[in-house]
Amino acid sequence: MRVCIIGAGVAGLISAHVIKQLSETYQRITTQIVIYEQNSSLGGTWVLNNPGSSMYEDLVTNLPKHVMQFSNVAFPESVPEYPSHEQVLNYIREFAALHRLDELIVFQRQVVLVSPKESGFLVETKDLVSQAEFLEEFDSVLVCNGVRDSSRLFLY
Ligand SMILES: Cc1cc2nc3c(=O)[nH]c(=O)nc-3n(C[C@H](O)[C@H](O)[C@H](O)COP(=O)(O)OP(=O)(O)OC[C@H]3O[C@@H](n4cnc5c(N)ncnc54)[C@H](O)[C@@H]3O)c2cc1C
Repeated sequence: MRVCIIGAGVAGLISAHVIKQLSETYQRITTQIVIYEQNSSLGGTWVLNNPGSSMYEDLVTNLPKHVMQFSNVAFPESVPEYPSHEQVLNYIREFAALHRLDELIVFQRQVVLVSPKESGFLVETKDLVSQAEFLEEFDSVLVCNGVRDSSRLFLY
């Protein structure tokens, strides 16, 4: 089973982690997960210099770290109750490295179109460095592109 995840922000990473865990637990299904990320690093909105990010230099979170953290990985003790954007980004990066999610990401690859097939989906992507275009088949697609990018829904 091939799964495509669009976006390596928090939503894409936690989705990949859950699917990976499920496929390891229920070994009857071999799952190949690919995360396409248009930027050159993971973390989505928490990356200050990502194009279109509205993150700002002196931001601290509006939620306590215990409310924001992933269920199986705590923020380090040394991080204050309301972390800075940099501390959140480091925490997300550590989570991705711990669960080897970073190995699943293809950076600077933009998903340009997802089309339904009779069974599964056709996914068109573009390498933003070489401008090469790719067309692949996936059984499932998870759209984790955040709220900052416009998207169009296909009609069945
Ligand atoms: C200023 C600010 C402050 C915030 N403060 C808090 C807070 O204190 N606590 C809290 O819990 N939440 C906060 N949030 C909410 C934050 O958006 C979420 O916590 C979370 O990071 C959203 O993750 P996401 O994965 O849904 O989206 P994003 O982080 O936006 O990630 C989406 C990813 O998808 C990629 N992508 C998009 N389109 C494509 C495409 N076509 N092809 C390939 N890749 C694509 C993008 O490049 C991006 O990396 C804040 C948000 C902002 C903007």
